[in-house]
Order: sequence, then structure tokens, then C-alpha cells
Amino acid sequence: MFYKNQTILVATRHQKERVIGPALEQALQCKIFTPPDFDTDQFGTFCRQIKRTATAYETVIQKAKTAAQHYGYRYAIANEGSFGPHPDFFMVPGDIELIALIDLKNGIEIIESVISTDTNYAHLDLNAGDDYSAFLKQVKFPSHGLMVKALATGWIQKGITDPLTLKNAIDEALEQSSQVRLETDMRALFNPSRMAVIASAAEKLAQRLLQQCPQCNSPGFGRLTTSGKLLCEWCEAPSTLYQFQLKQCVACDYQEQSKRPDGLTNAPARYCEYCNP
Ligand SMILES: [Zn+2]
Ligand SMILES: [Zn+2]
Repeated sequence: MFYKNQTILVATRHQKERVIGPALEQALQCKIFTPPDFDTDQFGTFCRQIKRTATAYETVIQKAKTAAQHYGYRYAIANEGSFGPHPDFFMVPGDIELIALIDLKNGIEIIESVISTDTNYAHLDLNAGDDYSAFLKQVKFPSHGLMVKALATGWIQKGITDPLTLKNAIDEALEQSSQVRLETDMRALFNPSRMAVIASAAEKLAQRLLQQCPQCNSPGFGRLTTSGKLLCEWCEAPSTLYQFQLKQCVACDYQEQSKRPDGLTNAPARYCEYCNP
């Protein structure tokens, strides 16, 4: 088994090893190491104090790679979350968690992702005297942490998990700004909902690492992609829907082709550029 008795570094300073560790150790019989001083903030933070310079996909790979090289490990794991409107459900907030393993020994990168609507991601702008008790309930405070921002000056206090600290922070912010923003703190250690989504992403990564390529035996077989275009049911022109699902090796050119999970063999005319322009 790959990674058995090997140590995998987890690049986090927000206690993500609490869920990534057990998932990986159980499935792979590996060990986990978390550096006490890893600075993930150089890759951008949730409160946008530092602008992100790359996409989440590139960021998560870069984070893992930098950590592996900096601490001299062959294997490293990093996670990156993004929050916003769910791609499939209008007006529902979503949490997309990417998790990546960098394997410098075998020269491979393996990424898995989980998307969940189980997130408290939200913010509320308020003025002095406004009632915000409903918002606190909605975002599951105090089990989930909050941030307070003075919108006029940019002053910010993060990681708030008790009512008194929250009240003091709001008072402080109101001294500086007529409008104050309450915002969910999405850092994993302040957000049990997010921690649970990271846990399922870690499970998915662990299962993926157990899949070996039938041709070269590399771990992490099953990178998903698609090929071809379904033909329109009316005019047989290529539609915008893909034809096959592909599972690929991350190390060699081996791939397995399968039908679409929804069983479609022709595209409904609404996906056709000619029948439904
Ligand atoms: Zn058509
Ligand atoms: Zn292969």
C-alpha cells in the first residue's frame, strides 16, 4: 500500500489536521505531521486582507508544494475553501472545499473536491441600535465564530466566539464607522460546519489515493474529466453536453471511458446551438 508508515505533512495553521489526520491515517495507515508555524496567509486569506493571486486550484497545489519543500517532506496535503452562491441552487450559499496531495517522490498531484450547502457563510451590515439577534441565530453563533469590521476604517476583529467580546467589538467598530459588518469567520477552527465539509473532502481524497492505475500502478487513479459531445436528438449537430466520462491516471496516459452517469445518449434539443439558439 502506498503511503503506509510514511509521514504526510498537513499544511494548516487552522487545526485542519483534526479531521484530515484521522481520515488519512485510517485509510492509508500513514502518519500525519502538522508544522506548528506554517504561514498559510501568504496565499491569501478569507477576509481579503491579502489579495489572492491565483485560482483556488493553483493555490491549493502551491500551498502543499511550498510546505513539502520548506519542511523537507515528500508528501504534503493542503486545503482551500471558497464560499459563495452554490453553482446549482439559486441564492443558496455553498462551500467548495478543494484538498490536494502533493507526492514529490512519484511526481504526482491529486486533487479532490466537495461542494456542500451546509455552510453558515453570510454577513450583515448594521448601524447603531439595530437588532442583530436573528443573524446570530442564523449563523450559529457562538458555536461558529464571527468577525466584526468597521466599514469606514477597515478595522477588524476576528475569531469572536462569545457574546461579550462580540458586543465590545461592535461598540469599538461603531466608534470608527457608522456602518459595521458582522461576517462569519470561515477559518476552519472557528467554523465546525466547514470543518465537517473538510472532513468529507479528506475521506474522498483518502479513498482516491487507494485507487491504483491498472497500467502503471500509480496511486490516485481516477482523475475525472469528460470527452466528446452528445449529438442533438433532432438535428444531430454536436451539443454542449459531453459524451463520455473519463477516469484518468495522474502519472501515465491510461484512461477508462464510461457512459454519462445520467444515461443520456442524445442531447435534448435545448442544448443544441441550432435548434435552441
Ligand atoms: Zn439540434
Ligand atoms: Zn498510470
